[in-house]
Amino acid sequence: MNTIRQFHDVINDSDGYARRLKNDSGKKILGYFCSYTPEEIIHAAGIHPLRLFGTRSAIAHADAHLQAYSCSLVRGVLEEALAGRLEFLDGAVFPHTCDSIQRLSDIWRLNLKFSFHSDVVLPVKLDTSSARQYMGDVLRKFKRELEMDLGLSITDAQLSKSIKTFNTIKRALGKIYRLRSANPGLIAGADVYALVKSAMIMDRADAAEKLTAVADQLEKTKAAGADSGKRIVLSGGLCDHADIYSIIEKSGGAVVWDDLCTGSRYFEGLVSEGGDPIEALADRFTERVVCPAKHSSITARGDGIVGIAKEHRASGVIFLLLKFCDPHSFDYPYMKEMLDREGVPSMLMEIEQDLPSEGQLSTRFEAFIEMLR
Ligand code: SF4
Repeated sequence: MNTIRQFHDVINDSDGYARRLKNDSGKKILGYFCSYTPEEIIHAAGIHPLRLFGTRSAIAHADAHLQAYSCSLVRGVLEEALAGRLEFLDGAVFPHTCDSIQRLSDIWRLNLKFSFHSDVVLPVKLDTSSARQYMGDVLRKFKRELEMDLGLSITDAQLSKSIKTFNTIKRALGKIYRLRSANPGLIAGADVYALVKSAMIMDRADAAEKLTAVADQLEKTKAAGADSGKRIVLSGGLCDHADIYSIIEKSGGAVVWDDLCTGSRYFEGLVSEGGDPIEALADRFTERVVCPAKHSSITARGDGIVGIAKEHRASGVIFLLLKFCDPHSFDYPYMKEMLDREGVPSMLMEIEQDLPSEGQLSTRFEAFIEMLR
């Protein structure tokens, strides 16, 4: 499908895309790091939210500020900023998640001179009524900060319009995922990855329109090969490597779903389009599938991965964990144990911004996929 090429172009040069968007539209751009960022509020202010993913360049500046055991996302994004390659940003938003992101916020504020900076300190424990109340208060505070800093006001009508745009994106991505799960030969894993990642980079109205068109076109397409490999679910934080999908496919697997921050955790859970928009956003943040930086019950993430594996008839689960990402590493043993109890085999692969050679990856994936039923 030719239209999918456009999404690869966006993800292959996200900075170039952002610079052009800024030049053409005059919009301010705020960078963000995590799917707990209230993008709808930023968008409703007429600002473009741009997810930052790290760097492919060598680290020359960031290591002067960070410990050697910081993850490649944190080191990479700081490197990009310190090297002056994010000069088009007007600021950044740091949700309260892991320790490294929080400390990155301090280093960023002290060493870089972007005009807007906000820490969005969402509650960590989500299954209490006070957490829900606090969630709403934090989102209102973030909205006020944006309004004061930028000298504008964000109306409920603007917020509701943004919620609808983001819901359209989420619906389209959910439909694409479900179509692929029903028929994995329909679309390559790297293409689905490009679609999801683009949704965090592109102008959101454009993304909503184009992703809906792709989803509708896929629905009408007959896949070449319905049975394209052993059914694999990916789990982890973020995967910034289109190559991983194609290597899994060449190794005999077909990614049918994921539990990734750059995947289903980004789009699952629509925001209610009626009532008070901030309350609706607070509900979604409280009820959405949790990442390991949040807690809704002791077994929430294990229940989640077991549920995904069953629903999508996974032959196996591959945990893609970013090296030095403590929250994900803490959850891994119990999630693996729960999958073992259900008879779902899993393997652990540690990744960084630079991947091991394709040969090394294929050997690991092939060995795992071969033993799956
Ligand atoms: S895994 Fe959690 S903390 Fe990490 S980027 Fe995703 S939402 Fe944020």
